[in-house]
Amino acid sequence: MKKKIIAANFKMNKTNEDIRKYFAVFLDLINGLKDKISAGDSDLDSELIFAPPFTSLCETLNIIEPYLDFIKLSSQNVYFEKSGAHTGEVSIDMIKSCGCDYAIIGHSERRNIFRESDELIGKKIGAVYNDGRIIPILCVGENLEIRKRNGQEKFVENQLAVGLNSVKGKSVSSLIVAYEPVWAIGTGMPIKADDGEAMHGFIYDYIKSGFSIGELRVIYGGSVTEANIEELMGKPHIDGVLVGGASLDPQSFYNIFKKGGRL
Ligand code: PEP
Repeated sequence: MKKKIIAANFKMNKTNEDIRKYFAVFLDLINGLKDKISAGDSDLDSELIFAPPFTSLCETLNIIEPYLDFIKLSSQNVYFEKSGAHTGEVSIDMIKSCGCDYAIIGHSERRNIFRESDELIGKKIGAVYNDGRIIPILCVGENLEIRKRNGQEKFVENQLAVGLNSVKGKSVSSLIVAYEPVWAIGTGMPIKADDGEAMHGFIYDYIKSGFSIGELRVIYGGSVTEANIEELMGKPHIDGVLVGGASLDPQSFYNIFKKGGRL
């Protein structure tokens, strides 16, 4: 069965000490669940993913080690080269050695603040997908100006076309696409669930036209909270969520997981 995803993106927040405090609370909240899952006695159909900063990946791995059945680690970025003179960058081997199963690629903050181009993001997606050890989470999404002139489909189609250009073969079965309209990120203005469903359906149809999709998942990000998670997760093409601001507090992220993760 294809699992839904509830993912936390901590962005540039939390030192290792903050991480230890966070998980002391979060793991306490989910402790009952761990026993249920081990006993095969839970209808959990979701995977929890945490994307802390690079500096806390290994610390987080040590803490969540007993929970790796259903809590996974993601990096917030990765570079496409294997090694060498790329100061400040981090390779697939490096994130794998800190326990990552996922890598967020092409987040709108990488695109807008650090000027990452569609082409660079396509190289990263190709490198990670073709390597096969890490599942890439390809972020796409339009800004407000594009949405106002109803250009979101064309814009996202282009991000997907270039983003998937270096994937070898015709299957994207394990890929995750995160549809994150820029105007909804960190603004407290989430997309209306019906509009989200329409874009997710469009993304499915577009990818299906060029690839066999297998267990492709399309998740939504942008001002997700415990107030809107159930409506979003109720839509057939919304396979999960990527949560920024509301994931920083363990109780609030636990509430999102509990409502959205079908516990
Ligand atoms: C994000 O940056 O990926 C995000 C979804 O942020 P927020 O939940 O704060 O809108």
